Amino acid sequence: MNDALQLLKKYWNHDNFRGLQAEIIENVLAQKDTFAQLPTGGGKSICYQIPALLQDGLTLVVSPLVSLIKDQVENLQTKGIKAIGLTGGISADEVSNLLDNCQYGNYKLLYLSPERLQSDWILERLKSLPINLIAVDEAHCISQWGNDFRPAYLKITNLKTHFPKTPVLALTASATPQVKQDIISILKLEAVTLFEKSFDRDNIAYMVFEVEDKLHRMVQILKKNPEPSIIYVRNRKSCVEISRQLQQSGIPATYYHGGLSTIEKNKNMTLWTSEKVQVIVATNAFGMGIDKGNVKTVIHIQLPDSMESYYQEAGRCGRNGQKAFAVLLNSPSDYLQAEGQFLAVLPDKEFLTKVYKKLNSFFRIGYGEGIDDSYTFNLNVFCSQYQLPTLKTFNAIQFLDRQGIVTLSQEFSQKITVQFLIPSKEVIRYMSLNSHQEEVILTMLRTYPGIYEIPAVMNVVLIAKKAQTTQEVVLGILAQLHKKEIISYTANGSDSTIIFNEVREDERTINRVSKFLVVQNELKTKQLHSVLKYVSTKNECKSKLILRYFGEDKKENCGICSYCITLKKQQPKAISTTNLIITALSDATLDSRSLEKVTRQPSNQVIFALQELLEHNVVEILPNNHYRLKK
Ligand SMILES: [Zn+2]
Repeated sequence: MNDALQLLKKYWNHDNFRGLQAEIIENVLAQKDTFAQLPTGGGKSICYQIPALLQDGLTLVVSPLVSLIKDQVENLQTKGIKAIGLTGGISADEVSNLLDNCQYGNYKLLYLSPERLQSDWILERLKSLPINLIAVDEAHCISQWGNDFRPAYLKITNLKTHFPKTPVLALTASATPQVKQDIISILKLEAVTLFEKSFDRDNIAYMVFEVEDKLHRMVQILKKNPEPSIIYVRNRKSCVEISRQLQQSGIPATYYHGGLSTIEKNKNMTLWTSEKVQVIVATNAFGMGIDKGNVKTVIHIQLPDSMESYYQEAGRCGRNGQKAFAVLLNSPSDYLQAEGQFLAVLPDKEFLTKVYKKLNSFFRIGYGEGIDDSYTFNLNVFCSQYQLPTLKTFNAIQFLDRQGIVTLSQEFSQKITVQFLIPSKEVIRYMSLNSHQEEVILTMLRTYPGIYEIPAVMNVVLIAKKAQTTQEVVLGILAQLHKKEIISYTANGSDSTIIFNEVREDERTINRVSKFLVVQNELKTKQLHSVLKYVSTKNECKSKLILRYFGEDKKENCGICSYCITLKKQQPKAISTTNLIITALSDATLDSRSLEKVTRQPSNQVIFALQELLEHNVVEILPNNHYRLKK
C-alpha cells in the first residue's frame, strides 16, 4: 500500500486515504470482485484510479454520465495521467483510432458509456486489450429499483462472460437493500466483498419544520448561522427569485441552475466558494463535484422527489465533521400539492409516443432516419408549437434520454434568430455576386420559407448538414450577412442540445421501452410516498427514519434532530419542576395544589414531577395527601 500512498501524494496531494478507500483498493488489487457504497464526496473514483495506476494494463470505467466522464478524463489529463473517454457523438473511425491508442499508447484508464458496450465490434476490440479491472460507476443505474435506472446498463450484465478473469468493482453512492441485491446479481459478482459506509451522519441535525412563512424562517436560520449555506429549490425561476428575496432581507446570496452559461455558473459558484456570499440558491443541477467542507446549513424549501436525492443534497453540509443542519421547510399546502406536482406529470405510454413522434416531426426526421443527428433544442418553443405541458414533456424526453433513445444535454448553446431585411430580388442578386455563400443562403430560405416576414429560430446544425458544410461556415456567413444589414440576427443562450441515437421507428421504439416506463412510474410514486412519510412522521427520530429507508437499523435516537430536540425541551421543564418542588418541600409539607401555587407550574407538570420523585424515592406521601422529602 506504500506505492498507493505515494501515488495519492503525487497526483492528488493527499497524505492519507479517507474512509474505506484503502481497504477497497487493497481488495481490488487482490483481484476480488468488490461492491463499494460510499456516500457522495466519499472519493469513489480514487478507488479505481489508484489500482489503474498501480497495475499493468488498462482499467475500464463504465459510467452513465457523459458530463462526469468528460470531467474525469480532463482532470486526469491535467495530472498527466493517460485517460480516454468514449462517449456518444464520436464517429466509429475515431473510436477505432482511440482504441488503437489504448492498445499501444500506454493508457491507464478507458472511460465509456454503457451504450458503447452494445456494439459488438467495440466489445471485440476491448477483449483484445489488457484490461486489469472493470469499474462500474453509478452502479445503482443497473437496478430498476434505483433512482436513475438506465436499461443500457443491462447490456453490461454479460461483462463477466466476456472478461471472466477480470475483477469487477461496482460503485454507488446510495443503494437501498433491494438495489444492492440487484447490482450484485445482475453484474454476476462472485464471492463479492462488500464495503459499505453507514448512511449515518451523526453531525447532521435533520430538521423538519412546518411553517407558514418559509422566507421568514429561512432568514431566521441563516442569520443565526451566518456560515456557508445551500438552499435547494425546484425550478430555475424560484432560484433567481429566492436569491433576490434573501438579498433584500440582508443576506448575501447568489444562485445556480442548469440554464446558466458556463461563465455565469463559474462566476456565481466562485462567489459562494470564496465566501463572498453566504448562500447559494440552487436547483438539483448543483451538486456534482462540490467539495466544500464547511457548509453549515442545507435548506430545502420544497419537498424533494425521493429520499435518495434528499439524502444526497442534505449530505452536502457538515463534510468537515462539524455540527451542521439539514432543514426541510414545508407548509400544509405542499403536502396537498405534492402528488399533483410529481405524479400528475409522469408520462404514460400514449403521451410518450406522442412526444417522441412530435420530436421527430419538429426536426423533420423521417421514419427510419435520424440516427446520430444532433440539434439545438428549446423545450419551451417545442411545447408551445405542439401545445404540450412543459414539465410532463420534459419528463418524457428525460425518460427517452435514460433509455438511450435520445441524449439531451443541458449544456449551453446558442439560440439564433434570423430574419431577412431586404427583398427576395436583392437576396438573389447578392447570391449571384457571392456564389460561395449561395448554398447556405438557399438552404436557409428553403428550410424557413417565412424568414422574410418573421424572425426564424435557426437550427445551425441542420442548415450545416443540409448545405453539406460545417456549423462554423454557417455562423461565419450569418455574421457577414448581419454586418451587411441583409439579415437581423440575435443570439442568446437558453437552449440545450438533443442527439438522436436511434433511427425513428415510432411505436416500435416506444413499445420496446414502455415496460420500463410502468416500473419507473410505480417507483416514483413509492419514492414520493417515502418523502411524505419522512415529513409527516411526528413521533420518531428523523435520523432513524432516514437510516431505516436505506436498510440500517439505528438503535438510539440521534439527540439533535427536530424530533429529538422537542423531546429534550420537554424534559428540562420537568426537571426544573422537580427542582422547584424539592426546594418548596425543604421547609414544609405541602399538597399538590399548594405545590402548584408555590412553584407556579401547570398542574400536569407538577403531577408528572411528583410521580417521578415518588418513583425515585425522593419524596413520600403522607396520609393527609401532603408530600414531604424523604429523610
Ligand atoms: Zn433524532
